[in-house]
Amino acid sequence: MTLPAFTTKNLTKVYGEGRSAVHALRGVDVEIPQGEIVVLLGPSGSGKSTLLNILGGLDSATDGTAQFRDQMLTDMQDRELTRYRRDHVGFVFQFYNLMPSLTAYENVELVTEIARDPMDPAEALHMVGLGGRMDHFPSQMSGGEQQRVAIARAVAKQPDVLFCDEPTGALDSTTGRTVLKVLKSVNETLGATVMIVTHAASQAAMADRVIHFADGNIREIVKNKTKQSPDEIAW
Ligand code: ADP
Ligand code: MG
Repeated sequence: MTLPAFTTKNLTKVYGEGRSAVHALRGVDVEIPQGEIVVLLGPSGSGKSTLLNILGGLDSATDGTAQFRDQMLTDMQDRELTRYRRDHVGFVFQFYNLMPSLTAYENVELVTEIARDPMDPAEALHMVGLGGRMDHFPSQMSGGEQQRVAIARAVAKQPDVLFCDEPTGALDSTTGRTVLKVLKSVNETLGATVMIVTHAASQAAMADRVIHFADGNIREIVKNKTKQSPDEIAW
């Protein structure tokens, strides 16, 4: 039996204190199997990004535990969390966060220079269909292309987990579907666990497992019997 990618117990996050305290996570218990595409769905402010950021080692919990395989994330100090992110995790955000003064190739190279077992930046850019745009700057690319560079950057270190927070939030349907296809192929070719936060309910159809979030906790988990291809997703 392989370990789950993630296990959380009573995972709790409170921002601020006293009367201004915000309960972002209210005791989340979940197991996320390795190698799946997991879609987190829920209204704005329900705690999706908070969960992703704690699992990704970007934020700390207030109470409870979060575990990656057999490593207890909630016991780690900053240095260990940095190493965890470097060795295991890729992030894709809604607004690409590329360096404007660097080409697509150089943006990916920034990460491969410090990764443990990286791909060649060119290979990662080929994977996302941008083999012909490696010398272009972000300002010379469309939003969808910039997001694919961001995905290439995230996957070039061959992460075990790829966290995507509203990756298609700023994209139209055609480029959005292209980005989702790239995420699916990353899941299939690298075997990476892919967690996608979205408020677009239709994207749930491409997932192995859909986690419905509301008011800081999981309301329901649905395992899809069949997965739709990103091409078939309504927008
Ligand atoms: P979602 O991603 O589902 O939209 P978030 O996880 O971003 O939700 O936020 C959950 C709740 O926590 C929201 O009420 C939000 O305002 C609050 N929150 C998130 N980050 C912070 C922060 N750094 N400081 C204070 N409150 C925060
Ligand atoms: Mg969010």
